[in-house]
Amino acid sequence: MVVLGIESTAHTASVGVVGEDAEVLSLASDMYRPPSGGIHPREAANHHVEVLPSLVGQALESAGVKPKDIEAVAFAQGPGLGPCLRAGATVARMLSLAWDRPLVPVNHCVAHVEIARVLSGLEDPLLLYASGGNTQVIAYGRGRYRVLGETLDIGIGNFLDKLWIGLGGTFPGGPAIEAEARRGTELLPLPYSVHGMDVAFSGILTATLALHAKGANRPDLAYSVEATTYSMLTEITERALAHRGRDSVVLGGGVACNERLRGMVKTMVESRGGTMFAPPKSLCVDNGAMIAWTGRLAFRAGLTSSVEASAVQPRQRTDLVATPWRND
Ligand code: AMP
Ligand code: MG
Repeated sequence: MVVLGIESTAHTASVGVVGEDAEVLSLASDMYRPPSGGIHPREAANHHVEVLPSLVGQALESAGVKPKDIEAVAFAQGPGLGPCLRAGATVARMLSLAWDRPLVPVNHCVAHVEIARVLSGLEDPLLLYASGGNTQVIAYGRGRYRVLGETLDIGIGNFLDKLWIGLGGTFPGGPAIEAEARRGTELLPLPYSVHGMDVAFSGILTATLALHAKGANRPDLAYSVEATTYSMLTEITERALAHRGRDSVVLGGGVACNERLRGMVKTMVESRGGTMFAPPKSLCVDNGAMIAWTGRLAFRAGLTSSVEASAVQPRQRTDLVATPWRND
């Protein structure tokens, strides 16, 4: 039996089918790309409503499964953009009723941890979760996934996207800044914004745009932004490892596709004698397979929901959701 998972927290609509051992049998995704500017939640939700039915069909077909093979239907309940979450939840409820299968709500951030954890084979790693809307260092402790440090303002991916648009580019900014940064040579002075275990990005955004207005070139700006902000993330991850007495780190989120960030975290972790694992990029970004896998864990631990109780939770906190499958 397999679990089907639906992801729709932000710009990506995705359906994944996962087997017994986190084997990803299929993954069908479609990302909303705004013609200009950032994501408009309503427009992204309209996109998801349009594509999700065919993504479900594609996911079933390429996994070679029929509805009768589906054990449970999981969906991302939060955190995320309300209209986008509701699009995925509505499809999940409908499938659950039509197929007479249990409905399993999943926390999106916990799903990033769980897919990385199972793929890495690491028992109890820390997660550096660096995505568009979220930037958190997460570790398990006493019954919950705890947020040890996080952004005080915007997510690192949103920061990169806003910056790139401010420099004349289009969404998404992260991959474009990564390409531009390879040509940068000079490290320009930018604010280094670490506050204890937390980080902040909006001051760096203002400072970078100010340097650009004074004539700094894009490759140097991109290089300096990556060097500065990825150092900040590496620093808080290292502090979390030291405080928690852990030695391994897994990565998640779209920004975790970045080679420089992967390299910096790997160097730090290995210098402490630990292991760093980054999932394949298709499973770092938002995807239905991580929702399906976490849905399986939750379902096996007895966590299902009635349709009536399955309202989406746009501000659902990582540290407020139960994770009874982790009884260590
Ligand atoms: P997510 O919210 O996890 O789906 O990730 C989307 C975010 O990841 C967007 O803000 C992208 O700009 C960012 N992103 C994707 N690829 C890269 C990359 N190679 N380097 C940096 N950021 C990236
Ligand atoms: Mg995400």
